[in-house]
Amino acid sequence: MGNKSHLTPETISAQALNQIDSMTGGLSPAIHPSSTFVRDENYQLIDARHSYGRDENPGFAVAEKVLAELEGGSAALLFSSGMAAAMAIVQSLQPGDRIVAPKIMYWGLRNWLIKFCENWGLRLDLFDTADPDALAKTVDKGKTKLVWIETPCNPTWDVIDIAAAAEIAHGIGAWLAVDSTVPTPVLTQPIKHGADIVMHSATKYLNGHCDVIAGALVTAKEDELWERICQIRTEAGAILGSFEAWLLQRGMRTLFLRIRKACESAMAIAEHFEGHANLKAVMYPGLPNHPGHEIARRQMDGGFGGMLSIRMKGGADSALAVVKRCKVFTRATSLGGVESLIEHRYSIEGKRSPIPKDLVRISIGIESVDDLIADLEQALA
Ligand code: PLP
Repeated sequence: MGNKSHLTPETISAQALNQIDSMTGGLSPAIHPSSTFVRDENYQLIDARHSYGRDENPGFAVAEKVLAELEGGSAALLFSSGMAAAMAIVQSLQPGDRIVAPKIMYWGLRNWLIKFCENWGLRLDLFDTADPDALAKTVDKGKTKLVWIETPCNPTWDVIDIAAAAEIAHGIGAWLAVDSTVPTPVLTQPIKHGADIVMHSATKYLNGHCDVIAGALVTAKEDELWERICQIRTEAGAILGSFEAWLLQRGMRTLFLRIRKACESAMAIAEHFEGHANLKAVMYPGLPNHPGHEIARRQMDGGFGGMLSIRMKGGADSALAVVKRCKVFTRATSLGGVESLIEHRYSIEGKRSPIPKDLVRISIGIESVDDLIADLEQALA
């Protein structure tokens, strides 16, 4: 394979580090469904790297190596979902440890954290993402062990300064973990800004085709936290299936093209609908009047992502009506696929959600931006 470190991330992603199948010379890697691996007559493993399918699978290597390279990390691990990846970090903490996380973040993880911390002797402190000083005021020296951030924050797209969060976390002896599902390494590499661990719901942009549930972690260094995480994946067994790992490495080959197209279209849509008579707000970090725009310009490279939200002047009813009237956008939860999705976020998150009821979340895919604009125009009319 040779040293490929001189290559640009775009080439690394398209060629998947050129990991040609060593058995056959196949350009596309093999799928390894085997749950166990054979020993020879001297009871030695035929390939010392592989013993049992829950420890790891040769098919994980392609996506893990490519992702570690794209994120500028030292190692990566695939998981059976984004939630399983996040949980492996939290389960590595000790009872009594404290976690600080944003009030606005992926709701499923926030809800799980609230319940899990209560039951497992951890303390969770939530901070306000709209207040730039809130994180520093919320951490507790010696007690906070993990600072968790997501940026841009789903679904208001507030932007958190990763370098500032890393300084705060490291200043009190905590790890900084970043859910980077939305920007992906195409737009932001949190490790370069000081993060210790990067988490992805690989279900979204990394795979990109709404046909795999997967998660991934990338570490800056293989330290004691990473060792515990590796052990948790092996022993608790939240591993990805071999076919899903194969689909994921295939999806990642077009990551750069998909993200760039989504960014371009999202920007065009945000600019087109900003100031629309029926809208209270267009929430997109690429708009100069977005409160996180300046930080986003510093830490997002080449675009502001494919996610945006709109808030309706007419409240919850009118938000639901817009979603129902769409014909090109698909009504479904999730994000990061090639097809554009639209959803009324409060209906999904439920009564405990801090999300405004008039908010509609939009994931921009790779369709013609003209079709998407025309569809939203008619839905908003
Ligand atoms: N993080 C973000 C930002 C998400 O949007 C999601 C899922 O929607 C997750 C994490 C959880 O990932 P998964 O659904 O792969 O478990």
